[in-house]
Amino acid sequence: MGNLWYGGTIYTMEEEGHRVNAIYENDGKIMAVGEPNVLREQYPIEQEFKFDGVMLPGFIDSHLHIIGHGERLLRLDLTYSQSREELLKQIETKVKQLEPGEWLVAEGFNENNWDNPKVIHRNELDAISPEHPVVLTRVCRHALVANSKAIEIAGIHNQTTTPEGGVIEYDEDGGLTGYFLDQAQELIKEYMPEADQAYLEKTINTSVNDLLSHGIVSGHTEDLAYYGGFQKTYEAYQNTVGTINNFRAHLLVHHEVVDDFKQAGYNTDQRDDWLEFGAMKIFSDGALGGRTAYLSQPYADDPTTKGVLIHSDEELYDLIKKARAYNMAIAVHAIGDAAVEIIVEILEEIPAPEGKYDRIIHAQIMRPDIIKRLTQLPVILDIQPTFVSSDFPWAIDRVGQDLIETSYPWKTFIREGILCAGGSDAPIEEVAPIRGISAAVNRQSSFDGNVYLPEESLTVFEAISLYTTKPAMVIGKEDRQGKLKPGFFADFVILDQDPFEISASDLERVEVKQTVVGGHPVYNK
Ligand SMILES: [Zn+2]
Repeated sequence: MGNLWYGGTIYTMEEEGHRVNAIYENDGKIMAVGEPNVLREQYPIEQEFKFDGVMLPGFIDSHLHIIGHGERLLRLDLTYSQSREELLKQIETKVKQLEPGEWLVAEGFNENNWDNPKVIHRNELDAISPEHPVVLTRVCRHALVANSKAIEIAGIHNQTTTPEGGVIEYDEDGGLTGYFLDQAQELIKEYMPEADQAYLEKTINTSVNDLLSHGIVSGHTEDLAYYGGFQKTYEAYQNTVGTINNFRAHLLVHHEVVDDFKQAGYNTDQRDDWLEFGAMKIFSDGALGGRTAYLSQPYADDPTTKGVLIHSDEELYDLIKKARAYNMAIAVHAIGDAAVEIIVEILEEIPAPEGKYDRIIHAQIMRPDIIKRLTQLPVILDIQPTFVSSDFPWAIDRVGQDLIETSYPWKTFIREGILCAGGSDAPIEEVAPIRGISAAVNRQSSFDGNVYLPEESLTVFEAISLYTTKPAMVIGKEDRQGKLKPGFFADFVILDQDPFEISASDLERVEVKQTVVGGHPVYNK
């Protein structure tokens, strides 16, 4: 016996404008769609769900860090600090609540939101926390600030060798500022207290509950390498996702744990409706905020640097070769055009295994010649539409007028036939797909309200596809996920307004009323 859903507008996402009036689902899958009365005659019905509003397939986030998002929810969140004074006040309050010797790790500061956009100096942290080690991670997660206590515990001093692919920042007089970028962050992170199993499970549960409240029923997540090893982190997932949480997780496997993953007997060809493995994750460059994304030309606002490469070309080649030996696709973080170009060069020689897509995550700074080469490869792009609202206008200062004009080119990608999926990169950005959809359509800066590169705006249908049909295609699940169609998962989101009917400027105010996974209501507003 199954259930009947009807009452509101139902967009199937099979094609633009396609609607039905009812869905019949049983045992987690959609059995039939059509008219309520016809379905009542044809099928035995256990329960009827009459809803108000607009139903779409449940959203899928194509790139996020589920544990990192949970940590952001559980830890002190600095994302909304409007000034350095406010941030330091938040830290000071939190430090007073700590047990002796306890670390304070706070998340998400962004100096670009302040009047005086200067990164916090360790001295400022020492003044409010001389005893407790304090670490503030930057919103991009490609940089952190540590106070002197944390630096002392990590045994770092003026003569410490800078790790490859990293930057240690110094004052004019040669003292440490406490700012560590990209790989240099590891010097501190190695000494931070390790997460235990219970903590990981709590973090995943907290994260997933929040995702469900935003209508997200599935996510492609990358966290297996950061929390004390593959096995422990994977077990935390096994004990939560699809077990106590109705959520579908597709886990990218960081190259540092890929051998552990293989030795434990797993591979990416084992498919599962709830929990499965995906491509091998590699970082190729840093991020734009800290000027570590790798560009083809010097930064417009700092001509001394073009950015940072995490691996040499040879290392990168060997990593991709290794993925191929394991019959795996790769998922590479690449933000700068030169970083993407290096990847493209290697992929032209050793493309993804038959039937799989390599993924380039972010692909923000672009050039037409690279886009042309991408169209010839089995490569998909994991884009983050909200980066347009967060990065403009300061991204123009970073890369210069020439390069920005061909960057964040979502419409061009789609027109050129490159498969794109939409994600949040949470905890870097808020998880809300509604905000992503609005950003893809409106391309409006949340900083100055201006619209940037409006010719790259997507239609509402294209924007919603980024969070439904497209991520399903990326992982070969286009036959069961991302549409409301017989044989597909009974995963729905019910919205309070019709995104296809309201004006574009109202999109970001659409709210999620209900989320349903495998036929079970898992979130109700
Ligand atoms: Zn990421």
